[in-house]
Amino acid sequence: MTDEHDDVTTGEDPTKAILSESGLNSKHLCDYVVNVATGCRHGCKFCYVPSTPNIRTRPDMLKEEADVDNGQKEWGNYVLYRDGLGEKLDDHVGRKRTWRETERGQGVVGVSFSTDCYMDGRAGKITRNVVDALTGHEKYTRVLTRNPILALQDLDVFQAGGEYVTIGSSIPCMDSGQVGAIEPSAPAPELRLKGLKEFNDHGVQTFVSMSPTYPTQDKAALREQLERVAECDPAVVFHEPINPRGANFEMTVEAAREAGEVELAEELDALRNRERWVEYATNHLRWVQEIGRELELPVHLWPDKQLIKHVDEETARWMQSWRDRQSPEEFAERELPVESPPASPCSVSY
Ligand code: SF4
Repeated sequence: MTDEHDDVTTGEDPTKAILSESGLNSKHLCDYVVNVATGCRHGCKFCYVPSTPNIRTRPDMLKEEADVDNGQKEWGNYVLYRDGLGEKLDDHVGRKRTWRETERGQGVVGVSFSTDCYMDGRAGKITRNVVDALTGHEKYTRVLTRNPILALQDLDVFQAGGEYVTIGSSIPCMDSGQVGAIEPSAPAPELRLKGLKEFNDHGVQTFVSMSPTYPTQDKAALREQLERVAECDPAVVFHEPINPRGANFEMTVEAAREAGEVELAEELDALRNRERWVEYATNHLRWVQEIGRELELPVHLWPDKQLIKHVDEETARWMQSWRDRQSPEEFAERELPVESPPASPCSVSY
């Protein structure tokens, strides 16, 4: 069926799996994930999810449940909800005898990393029950959404979850025009920040993912962004630059151009040149570390493995030490790093 408010086709997801182990522990995020839906109405242009097996290998299911002809091309135009997931999860976690707890993932459950769990009211209703079920079983729960304003409707559940829950948002850039060009249906960055601030003001732990920062941002813009991010007192600020080899990079450039964000389109396009990408990515990582230290923010960098192959030895050692380093986030049973972050090398310019 088509939602009465827009052109998004909706249905029910017949997936049986309830809780899946996740590789996102490599980024210090979680050991498990649950997704409240298949498909995402935000339709971000750079989204990696449509190129994952969950979409690529299920054309029959997508056709049958939501009349989708091409799950990748139609990304953003269909959502299959997993109604009743919270109740199933409650039962599943109650019976589960073993729990995976890696040093980086800490047994945390990520909700939802392949869709936005507060993209709309129906997804939010499922998420409410999911958070309630997980925290009720004292499982650490990491909620990621671009719509924390809508999530505030469940503030009571988050407050009841206490130390077992944190909520965060992706805030790649504070320029709403640029963000809106490549995340066409997601709430503006100001609203994301406002929602997180409200959560923090009401005693709920927050985190921010500056992922990916745009090549149009210079050091002053990153400083301004980090000063704004500090307003929600996040337990950690993750950061990564954009990766021009991502499956949907071409679509991202096109979307920026079509939206009239010419500078963004040109700067993104220029990243196809490897030296330009290395310069931008290295400088952004370095600047975020430096500004984070000045503002006393708990920053954690995510340097790309491929990037490390193309920088000098000193810079490679610095990036690798970030990949090896524990996150500074006080959440779950994590032992925080005792040493200061590695010193950053000088500015890169080719
Ligand atoms: S909100 Fe997340 S899952 Fe949804 S389209 Fe954007 S990047 Fe993809």
